[in-house]
Amino acid sequence: MKIIMLGAPGAGKGTQAKMIAQRYGIPHVSTGDIFRANIKNGTKLGAEAKQYMDQGLLVPDELTVKILLDRVAQEDCAKGYVLDGFPRTIPQAQVLDEALEKQNEKIDYAVNVDVPDENIVKRMSGRRACLKCGATFHIEHIPPKQEGICDSCGSQLVLRDDDRQETVQNRLKVYHDQTQPLIDYYEKKGILKSVDGTVDMQDVFHAISNVLA
Ligand code: AMP
Repeated sequence: MKIIMLGAPGAGKGTQAKMIAQRYGIPHVSTGDIFRANIKNGTKLGAEAKQYMDQGLLVPDELTVKILLDRVAQEDCAKGYVLDGFPRTIPQAQVLDEALEKQNEKIDYAVNVDVPDENIVKRMSGRRACLKCGATFHIEHIPPKQEGICDSCGSQLVLRDDDRQETVQNRLKVYHDQTQPLIDYYEKKGILKSVDGTVDMQDVFHAISNVLA
């Protein structure tokens, strides 16, 4: 099963993507995570991506499409995957569709986690991330057991640069301009499933499980 997660930054699509990946035994593929891993490892790709990410801008399609296609070509993606944060533009979606068509494959579902803008800014400024192991928390909704400390590896939690308020505003603008058109794109293909993302994350997951069934 090949699934795409859509939704504004901070809509909770990453959390849902991880839950879906676990339920269906398929990899969770996040382009944001791949970029962050590259930044952490000091690669050339990481340095290039960081310039855009820190401003809330999209990393250019050329760079992003290549890393995504390389990733889904790996063995563990043979039975499917859940894409989190890709595609973010119509051209990215088209390149993915063309690559899949060549292999007689297609995306099965595009799941849109719907959350209004006013909820997003509040949510994101409460987000805390572990830069060491990648775990994410929220000061209200998913608090770590010990304040400021990662449950998984014990490192200090931080507010990521791209979760800061002005960056969030930029990311929302970019989302509306460049990513939201994908909702129409997948609707026209007949594979869009929208769920209310404002409810408890277990309820969001329940709604998603129902539409994927
Ligand atoms: P995320 O963790 O998915 O919110 O991604 C964090 C940042 O990585 C985004 O704000 C973009 O700068 C960059 N990024 C992640 N995925 C993509 C993509 N598909 N296209 C362009 N930029 C991306």
